[in-house]
Amino acid sequence: MNHDHPLDRRAFLRVGSVGLGAVLLGACRASTPPVAAPGSSSTSAPSPTTSAAAPVTSSATDGLPGFDEFASTVRVLADDELWLVESSGIPSHNMMVGITSWQQQVPIPQPYSGANAWQIPARPTLAATPISAKTSLYRGAIALAVNGVPIFNALNNRGDDAYLAGELDQWGGHSGRADDYHYHIAPLHLQSIVGNTKPIAYALDGFPLYGTTEPDGSAVTGLDEYNGHFDAPGRYHYHGTRTYPYINGGLRGVVHVAGDQVDPQPVTRPFRPDGTALGGATITAFKATGQDAYRLEYSLADHTGLVEYTIEGAAVRFVFTDPTGPVRTETYTRTGT
Ligand SMILES: [Zn+2]
Ligand SMILES: [Zn+2]
Repeated sequence: MNHDHPLDRRAFLRVGSVGLGAVLLGACRASTPPVAAPGSSSTSAPSPTTSAAAPVTSSATDGLPGFDEFASTVRVLADDELWLVESSGIPSHNMMVGITSWQQQVPIPQPYSGANAWQIPARPTLAATPISAKTSLYRGAIALAVNGVPIFNALNNRGDDAYLAGELDQWGGHSGRADDYHYHIAPLHLQSIVGNTKPIAYALDGFPLYGTTEPDGSAVTGLDEYNGHFDAPGRYHYHGTRTYPYINGGLRGVVHVAGDQVDPQPVTRPFRPDGTALGGATITAFKATGQDAYRLEYSLADHTGLVEYTIEGAAVRFVFTDPTGPVRTETYTRTGT
């Protein structure tokens, strides 16, 4: 029996009601045509057919340092071979402000829980053949920040540097076609919360990603092309950097890849027609205006446009105020949330 198949992994999970039945594809589709038609409920996951994972013989005991700093919004469940991380994908810091290349997507909480939780290998293992993010892993997340926000490849689907292209906000994130907020560079600002001693993220191969210093505060030296290196005891870890590759520049640990993304990983489902690039627009303000209600403000040709939206159960109601004046309202129903 192949133990990497999501359905088979169910047998290994002993935490609550978490099962991994219908794990489907997620992707950053902020910049490229969608794989699935707008409004379709999901993209079918190819069946994993290979497993490179080493046999697991001991139990993880140490928890996941870093996530504990966000325990009020991020839940970590332990399992023999995986950590399961549940979050809404919405950080406590502000979002969207500073984006100058905007696809008109906005942040909406995501159901990263239960069978759709993030999976972090509890005992990461070095792969015989590491995977470079320069040429691979253009779809989906490659790491998870300790505040529960996924981190995608620093290169967008066209292979361009998303940060240099103006696609990211002041915190290194933006929203994809499922209105799913995610980073494309290391959230180095989390270091001010977790300190030097804890990781700011974990790559999806399970190896931790620290900020711009070593856990003891000393300077980082000798990073490999994946932005990682070994510490004195011989443990591998990554670092965030202020220039490319910004985050883990690939995965040196064992993962399963299907459809150019780490698999399985949580699915995000678009629920409205894809946004298009709004040339010349700059996002100038964003704030929560109530429970699951937000207001985004942008400037375009010296006029101000607004996107105000409210999430009520499965319904998402938008009020768009065009910079030239017209107002329109749209309501969508999310499926699978
Ligand atoms: Zn993206
Ligand atoms: Zn280091």
